[in-house]
Order: sequence, then structure tokens, then C-alpha cells
Amino acid sequence: MTEQYDVIVIGAGPAGYVAAIRCAQLGLQVACIDDYLDERGKPSPGGTCLNVGCIPSKALLESSHHYQQARHQFAEHGIRVGQLELDVATLQKRKQQVVRDLTGGIQSLFKANKVAFYAGRGTLQQHNQVEVIDHDNHATTLNAEHVILASGSRPVELPFAPFDGKQVVDSTGALAFDAVPPRLGIIGAGVIGLELGSVWQRLGSEVVVLEAQQTFLPDADNVIAKQANKLLGQQGLDIRLGTRVDAIHTGESVSMTYTDSEGSQSLEFDKLIVAVGRRPNSETLGADNLNLSTDERGFVQVDDHYRTNLEKVYAVGDLIPGPMLAHKGMEEGMAVAERIAGQFAEVDYDNIPFVIYTHPEIAWTGRTEQQLNDAGIDYRVGQFPFSANGRARAAGETDGLIKILAEAHTDRVLGVHMLGTHASELIGQAVIARAFSTCAEDLALTMFAHPTLSETFHEAALDVTDRAIHRAPPRKKKA
Ligand code: FAD
Ligand code: NAD
Repeated sequence: MTEQYDVIVIGAGPAGYVAAIRCAQLGLQVACIDDYLDERGKPSPGGTCLNVGCIPSKALLESSHHYQQARHQFAEHGIRVGQLELDVATLQKRKQQVVRDLTGGIQSLFKANKVAFYAGRGTLQQHNQVEVIDHDNHATTLNAEHVILASGSRPVELPFAPFDGKQVVDSTGALAFDAVPPRLGIIGAGVIGLELGSVWQRLGSEVVVLEAQQTFLPDADNVIAKQANKLLGQQGLDIRLGTRVDAIHTGESVSMTYTDSEGSQSLEFDKLIVAVGRRPNSETLGADNLNLSTDERGFVQVDDHYRTNLEKVYAVGDLIPGPMLAHKGMEEGMAVAERIAGQFAEVDYDNIPFVIYTHPEIAWTGRTEQQLNDAGIDYRVGQFPFSANGRARAAGETDGLIKILAEAHTDRVLGVHMLGTHASELIGQAVIARAFSTCAEDLALTMFAHPTLSETFHEAALDVTDRAIHRAPPRKKKA
């Protein structure tokens, strides 16, 4: 059987499903293929993000935050709860329901937009032909003028700590623990290590995070990274930097030996999460015979229009170089659809929001002070702590700060860095500001509602010119 479309999309993660829907909005006939099956064996479009990434991790972060609050914060509000009990099965069931609602939503959106959804593995036969093998092993051939590759990524495995799905797990395994592991080890203090480490630490695990690099979160602003490291340490995450894991043995428990500046060390865990990055799914596309061009790490190479080296074959999302983020993939999905439809579209890679959903949250957009110094750009700093913000005080969420970096001679906002409650939401203001090339003075002259956390952003903007109101007079700062 052969079916004809204008566009075929391989992969229904955030990059693929957005590309498919946008193509359909633009009047193109679209097919989208995805091979993911959920724990019931049912097709579940939405990719890593909806099934085993952004969404389930945030559901668990939310539940574990409530538990943490009930254990440690409610009392200071005069709320006494009786015997507190944790029901991991219910927590996991809720997470799964959130996932199902959203993946079901993608199926509905496909129907509403007349995107033909194929559940199965898609492989590129020719630049304009894709074979789909469904989950019952039936083959269908699809032809189209354009093919968009959006097959995403998967966790990196360490040769000395292979995933066994029981004791040594990847992020997917760590989202599905059916009990709180008393001793939890994590290799990698990156985004996943910190988010999932926070989840299980809040629920009662003793967590040790082993990180190879000497610097904590080297891509974040120094001041923010240092404060975050301290706060996460106070919460109980034992983050050990500059460590090299030498060997793992599994049996009754997981024994690990590692080396740090003081020599060889050993630890015992009940579970070990390996979270050392992700790699692109370029081999799943069956495009080897077609000589699809990839770099040495397997990322599909594209030009500024997301065109691969194959005629009218494009690639987006985690499959191509760049930060592995759902919103970056979604923007690329929209852009590639619009370009295929002959429109102009561009993704602003200089204004990508980065968020780490610890508590407090870490968020930034644009350049860090380190980057500005390295580039020799003259800048001014404005910063303001949440401890001096009325709303943060009322909420009992006084940790952290907002920091604005503005170019010295133009006052243009080059970077905004946040550590604080709801920073994931607040960073949107900075992204909008930067999208319109805003100056710190524009922000300083803008009115923000009182009392809100956003006033911290306002005060940081005022502080660029030493006019912050709700703090002691200025200290000496960079001219
Ligand atoms: P994916 O989401 O990986 O989707 C690709 C899809 O293609 C998959 O369903 C795959 O099964 C399918 N596929 C692959 N090959 C084929 C084939 N040959 N035929 C058919 N189907 C195929 N990002 C954020 O921005 N915010 C977050 O909070 C966040 N949290 C995360 C938490 C975790 C635990 C993890 C693991 C990731 C998180 N991410 C987060 C990253 C985010 O999930 C990815 O950046 C995003 O999902 C990438 O989207 P994508 O569409 O490129 O690929
Ligand atoms: P990551 O790149 O964020 O962190 C991996 C960490 O592991 C790094 O700090 C690295 O130095 C360390 N590492 C690598 N090899 C090591 C080794 N042998 N021993 C010790 N440490 C080692 O990767 P991740 O946390 O696995 O996340 C994967 C991707 O998923 C990231 O690109 C991230 O953008 C995305 N993600 C995003 C979010 C979010 O946006 N909130 C959440 C989760 C995941």
C-alpha cells in the first residue's frame, strides 16, 4: 500500500508533532509517524518530553514538593497535619494520568488538524519515501515531497555502568521507582541529576550525586550556580564535584568505587541513576545507505533552513546540534514547517530560556558574566535578592536573586539570571524583554504589580543604575 502526502514527519515528540500541526495549519497534507508505546503497549505520541521527560518529571517534582512542604513548611503556617504518609503508588498513578491526558491530547490535535498518525517505526527509503513498519509488523510505504526527521534522543549509557532497568537505571527508570530507594546514587550533576535527585531526596532518599567536572553547572552564571549548589546541599543533596567513577558492581546493592582529589573512595547504593547526557536517535532512521550526513556524535547536520544533505529532507529537535530542550525543538518544528510552505521563519538561538526545576528554580537567558568577560564586552550588573521582596517574604520563599547584565554603552539587556521560586515563569519576562532588544532602563521605567515576585526583576533593572528602592544604598559595582 502506498500513500501520498506533502510532508512526512518521523517522530511525534515536541519537534515533530509541532512541525506536523504547523504544516497542516498551512494547508499541507501531513503524515506523522511515531514508534513509542506506553506501559500498556499503546501508541503514545508526544516523544520523550510527554512520555518520559519534561512532563512526568514535573509531575513528580510537584508531588514531592507538596510532601516536602507538608513535612517541613506547613507547621510554620500554623497548619498541623497528623501522621504523614507517602503513597508512592498513588503518586506514580497520578503522574501516569497526567502523561496520558497530554499524549491523548496530541492524538486529538492530530485528528482535529487532519494529520494522519502512523504508529510504528519509520525508515527513510529514498529522500521522498518512508516505510512504516507498524507494531504488528505490517509495512506501509508513504511518499511525500518533503520529509522532516524528528527522531529525538535517548540516554547515554556508560560502559562500566550498563542500564539493567532494576538497580542501574536511566531517567526513564528513575521516573518509575515503585518505592523510595533508601540510598540513591546519581552519576551526573546536570539537569536530570538535579531534578530527579531532588524528587527522591524530598521523598526520603539519601542522595549522593557524583559529577566529573570541578565546576557546578558551568553553563549557569557563577553567582547563581554557587548559591544553588549551597542551597541544594542544605536540602540534603550530597553533590560531589571532580569525581571519576571507576567501577560499579551490582548484587544485593550497587557498590561503586570512584576517585576524587583525596584518592579512591567507595559507596553503596540501593539504586543508581546514570544521567550523563543524551545522544541523538540518528540510527533509527535507516538512512545509512542514503548517506545522511551526521557529525562525529551522531547529530544530523543541517543548514540554517534545517535542510540535511538529502534533497527536501529536513531535521529538527534533539536530533540536530544545540541544547536538547523541548521548546527549542518546538520552535524549530514551527520554523521548518513555515519554510517548507515558502514563508520566512527564524529561531532566535540567542534567547533560549534554560530552566532547572529544582527548588528554588534556576533560570536564565542570554549571556553569563563569564561569557561577557571572555568576549571582552563591557557591561553593568543589576541584582536584587528575593529576601527583600514582599511577596517572597509572604510566601516564605526568600532564597535566591535576579541578576540583569546590561551592555555598558547601549544598556541593552544581554543576560538575565534567576534563582528563586517560580523562576521558570519569571524568566518569560526576560525572554520577552530580550526579544524586543529592551534596555535595562525600559524595564526600570515599567510598572509591575505589587506585591509580586516580578518586582524583583524590576528592582534588579533599577539596580543597574543603582536606584533599587527596597535595599540599602549601592555597593561598589563594575562601571
Ligand atoms: P523526542 O521527544 O525524543 O521525540 C522523538 C520521538 O521519535 C520519540 O517518540 C521516538 O520514540 C520517536 N522515534 C525515534 N525514531 C523513530 C523512527 N525511526 N520511527 C518512528 N518514531 C521514531 N526539556 C525541556 O525543555 N524542559 C524540561 O523540563 C525537560 N525535562 C526533561 C526531563 C527528562 C527526564 C528528560 C529525559 C528530558 C527532558 N527534557 C526537557 C528534554 C526534552 O524531553 C527533549 O529535548 C525533547 O523531548 C526533544 O524533542 P524531540 O521532538 O526532538 O524528540
Ligand atoms: P546534562 O548534560 O545536563 O548533564 C550531564 C552531567 O553529567 C554533566 O554535568 C557532565 O559533566 C556529567 N558527566 C558526564 N559524564 C560523567 C561521568 N562519567 N561521571 C560523572 N559525571 C559525568 O545531561 P542530563 O542531565 O543527562 O540531561 C540530558 C538532556 O536533557 C540535557 O541536554 C537537558 O537539556 C535535557 N533536560 C532538560 C531539562 C530542563 O530543561 N529542565 C530537564 C531534564 C533534561
